[in-house]
Amino acid sequence: MNASTLLRHTLRAARPLAVPRALPGAYTHRFASTFALLEQRDGKLQPSAQNVVTAARTLGNPVVGFVAGKAAKEVAEQAAKIEGVDKVIYVASEAYEKGMPESYAPLVAENAPEDTTHILSVHSIFGKNVMPRLAALLDVQQVSDITAVESPDTFVRPMYAGNIIATVQSSEAKKLITVRQTAFKAAAVGSAAAAEIVEGKDSKHVGSVEWVEEHPAVSDMPDLATASKVVSGGRGLKSKENFDGLLIPLANAMGAGVGASRAAVDSGFADNSLQVGQTGKVVAPELYLCVGISGAIQHLAGMKDSKIIAVINKDPDAPIFQVADVGLVADLFEAVPEMTKKLQK
Ligand SMILES: Cc1cc2nc3c(=O)[nH]c(=O)nc-3n(C[C@H](O)[C@H](O)[C@H](O)COP(=O)(O)OP(=O)(O)OC[C@H]3O[C@@H](n4cnc5c(N)ncnc54)[C@H](O)[C@@H]3O)c2cc1C
Repeated sequence: MNASTLLRHTLRAARPLAVPRALPGAYTHRFASTFALLEQRDGKLQPSAQNVVTAARTLGNPVVGFVAGKAAKEVAEQAAKIEGVDKVIYVASEAYEKGMPESYAPLVAENAPEDTTHILSVHSIFGKNVMPRLAALLDVQQVSDITAVESPDTFVRPMYAGNIIATVQSSEAKKLITVRQTAFKAAAVGSAAAAEIVEGKDSKHVGSVEWVEEHPAVSDMPDLATASKVVSGGRGLKSKENFDGLLIPLANAMGAGVGASRAAVDSGFADNSLQVGQTGKVVAPELYLCVGISGAIQHLAGMKDSKIIAVINKDPDAPIFQVADVGLVADLFEAVPEMTKKLQK
């Protein structure tokens, strides 16, 4: 295969995820509900909210969304437009803006209706912070990082960096669940708010930790977590200059987000926020192109659900070829500039 053939294959469209419907045997108790924590940032509902709603809808009960933060009322109006949300509860206060678990978890416990059967959140930094603390407050065991709902009490989740796919059953009366964003299709957003919006209770929880400052990485490129195409670079690129000078022009030419292996991040080629894998981000774009990445299991844990995996590696025995849909055995220093030039044309 040459670079042009690889290019043709990698740009092929892949099948989208199916929208799950409420499962047979799903809860339909008259007053029961599923409570969905919807992540916001700077007054903007995060795209993950739509995936969490899809997961919540499969459980069959009415879906109550929850948002908190400085501009929570405006965020609630955005959330009320998501198809499948029946009601949104909001708490408008700067104290909850950063989703600090010490104050956010008791706030959720206070606002989740008594009859809530499930509390869901995305398996992001936010969800991974808040949910364990909430589980401790409610004295229940959490089910983390689910990729499918088999029934209202049975869920599928990866373990050991995705080497085992476990089906787990929870006997808790209230099930606390974090949802892998990429495993659930985003619910559609309507043009007008369809759900009821209600102000929640705020007992002014004060946590023991104070938010001081943050330094988010700023980039004009598509966001790695939500990009439909990702070009990811590894140690094979050999330097930051090559990462910036070869990989980024290729990603730009493809309209793709940029990712990196941990070795590339640890060597200073790329920012930590770009790391894909077990200890980085989990992505599942339509297309994931690995350049100079060997395919360690910890990297695969973050990208192997991508619809099409394409590879450029000079070693034909590199493990990454075992998960690749298309691969090019070539020196990346020749193949990448050639592909970029062809795409720019
Ligand atoms: C607890 C734990 C958590 C981890 N979490 C992560 C994680 O989240 N993400 C992650 O990525 N890793 C993670 N790792 C590290 C992981 O085990 C690997 O070390 C890492 O993924 C290797 O990165 P790499 O593929 O870029 O580098 P390497 O394994 O060194 O591979 C470089 C590849 O580039 C190819 N190459 C070299 N030169 C060229 C060239 N000129 N042209 C084409 N190909 C070339 C080589 O053939 C090789 O296959 C974790 C490890 C541990 C122990």
